[in-house]
Amino acid sequence: MCSIIGYYGNKTASPIIVKGLKRMEYRGYDSVGVATESNHQIELKKGIGKVNEVNSKVQLDSLPGKIGIGHTRWATHGKVTDFNAHPHQSNSGKIAIVHNGIIENFEELKKKLQDEGYNFKSETDSEIIANLLQKHYEKTKDVKETIMKTVSEIKGHYAFVAMFENGQLAAARFHEPLIIGVGHDDFFLSSDVLGFIEFTDDAIYLENGNFVILDENKFQILDFHGEHAKYGITKVSKEFGDAYKGDYAHFTLKEIYEQPETVLKAGEKTMEAIEKTADYIKNAKNIYVTGSGTSFNSALIAKQILSKYVKIKAEPVMSSELQFSPDSIEENSIIIAISQSGESADVLDAVKIGKQANCKIIAIVNLMTSSLAREADVVIGMNCGPEIGVAATKSFTSQLVILYKIVQKLNNDITINFENFSKSVLKILENPRKIQQIAKELKEISDIYILGRGINYPIAIETALKLKELTYIHAEGIAGGELKHGPLALMDSSVFVIIINPNDSTYSDTLTSAREIKARGAKVIGVSDIESDVYDYWIEMPKIDEVLYPISEIIPIQLLSYYAALEKNTDPDYPRNLAKSVTVK
Ligand code: GLU
Repeated sequence: MCSIIGYYGNKTASPIIVKGLKRMEYRGYDSVGVATESNHQIELKKGIGKVNEVNSKVQLDSLPGKIGIGHTRWATHGKVTDFNAHPHQSNSGKIAIVHNGIIENFEELKKKLQDEGYNFKSETDSEIIANLLQKHYEKTKDVKETIMKTVSEIKGHYAFVAMFENGQLAAARFHEPLIIGVGHDDFFLSSDVLGFIEFTDDAIYLENGNFVILDENKFQILDFHGEHAKYGITKVSKEFGDAYKGDYAHFTLKEIYEQPETVLKAGEKTMEAIEKTADYIKNAKNIYVTGSGTSFNSALIAKQILSKYVKIKAEPVMSSELQFSPDSIEENSIIIAISQSGESADVLDAVKIGKQANCKIIAIVNLMTSSLAREADVVIGMNCGPEIGVAATKSFTSQLVILYKIVQKLNNDITINFENFSKSVLKILENPRKIQQIAKELKEISDIYILGRGINYPIAIETALKLKELTYIHAEGIAGGELKHGPLALMDSSVFVIIINPNDSTYSDTLTSAREIKARGAKVIGVSDIESDVYDYWIEMPKIDEVLYPISEIIPIQLLSYYAALEKNTDPDYPRNLAKSVTVK
């Protein structure tokens, strides 16, 4: 999702801001801009495209001054244009803002401001913040009063940083992340610790409904009523600043190849939380598992393994849907909320609904300092290091390992050998040649279907998601038994079908489906530990203990999606229109 950044200190602000924006690029964006203050003048440069492209065109990093703000935009209101890019300036030019999120009542506020004589240059919801600030600042001449009045009028989800011509910087947060980096003689305001980790690892996580004012190297943190708010300085993990590709061509490839290690590390530092979760599950009235995208697919798998190995019923809940059926959550239950970033707006909203129903919240997150981690009663860490590629890879397998570890705590009779599993993952990764060849075949196709039964069905759905994200090919996961109830009509020689077909109880039914598909002329790719003449292409899976086998199925699929993305010349790290942590609804 878009990133905001602010710098207040003794160094030249613009190069620091541009660097910070570059580090946060993985979050996804379509345009970029920077504004700085020097000699009581605000200067601003912005444009559509990547940080480096825009910077080489307009030299964002040459703006003068020691105070500045920057933004990468992920358009929600208004097209991707230079004018709509942030920062936005107020009509007087004396205030500039960057905003992350959505102002829900912007139309009403815009109309009111227009009636009062304000003009708008952009189609964004964000520009109203700049003019509202101007309106209140002209009346009060006080930044604190100005922010309080402005936040009392705007509705929605937002984090914004405002820069005043007199050299003051202020930032407010409401359901969007905002972190203050505390340096030796400077301050940073950022959506993500990556925005400032190079300069300081001391951070203050601004609470929801708080704002900060930076003024002559002092800072005050207040709540929206103007009262001083409590805060603490946290040491952030330097590890999360270590976001380099190393020898790999892309972050996505690096992250896929980290999995032999990350599957061993998943949950490792939070074993007590895993035990506690198992206790909660034993005593829970109902168990809901919620997430979005890949994390929701993990929730589907959680249901399967909890019923299979511990005979416990869990209900997967798509986070974004819960707001439309909040009453489906029974009081005093538990909610396992899964999110890599811990900042996904939909997951946080689902947790809010759960809390209203008095549920215990268990978070499975990668970022232990995230909003979700702070909202939860129990926090389990994926512990897989920074995941920069927008498409989830190693975080998915880490989530699944954690779910299996919970299951193992609930049923001592199942033996799981994670060491052996890690070796099998390595084995799949060691020889990508065949997968690279199959990826070439996907270059020209426009439809691909993926079939699986039982636990292999959520894997089929996750496969479809990876292919969509990385290759932009239309991909659809199908439960094997549903084939004859509709999708068979789509099978002809123009499509490819991936068959997720391990040697388990689903094997022969799924092989029959594969034959039916092949008879209609479609090309069949089998992902299986058993060879068959039905497969036009066989992705051979190693022999893996049945319990963890389903997790390993996604590994060749991640590789296939990655190599097909290269064939299609799409950017595997930053798929078009997508953002890493979806902090807006
Ligand atoms: N809603 C704002 C816009 O469309 C901000 C979007 C963002 O978070 O990047 O400009």
